[in-house]
Amino acid sequence: MRARGHHLICLHFFKGEGYTEEFVDNLKSFLENVRKQEIEIVVGADDVCIACPNLEDGICNKGEEDIMELDLLAMNLLKVKPGDRVGWAEVESKLDEILKIWKRYACFDCEYSHVCGKDERWKQS
Ligand code: SF4
Repeated sequence: MRARGHHLICLHFFKGEGYTEEFVDNLKSFLENVRKQEIEIVVGADDVCIACPNLEDGICNKGEEDIMELDLLAMNLLKVKPGDRVGWAEVESKLDEILKIWKRYACFDCEYSHVCGKDERWKQS
């Protein structure tokens, strides 16, 4: 499975919402399998992006450069780099330590922050 940096953090707070039905179905399937195998960290579009209506010719039309900055921040906080293979539980175990910084620098203008805000881990960080 392939994941870009910010998805390693954001997807822990998925609550069934997303851009389209196809996108949500793909996301559910990703999350069903993510604990069964290692995740390879990639730069750019990943296994979540492939079903996203915002992906055009392999580029995120929501602003690939801004998204890549989020990916970089996520990788720095998680202390991983492209090409690394990580387990989902390993990433999850780092969330408490990094969420406060992540919320401050990554979430302020995200359209889904109200969704993550329902999560207990989110509220407590
Ligand atoms: S294409 Fe952009 S909006 Fe869609 S999942 Fe990937 S990063 Fe998110």
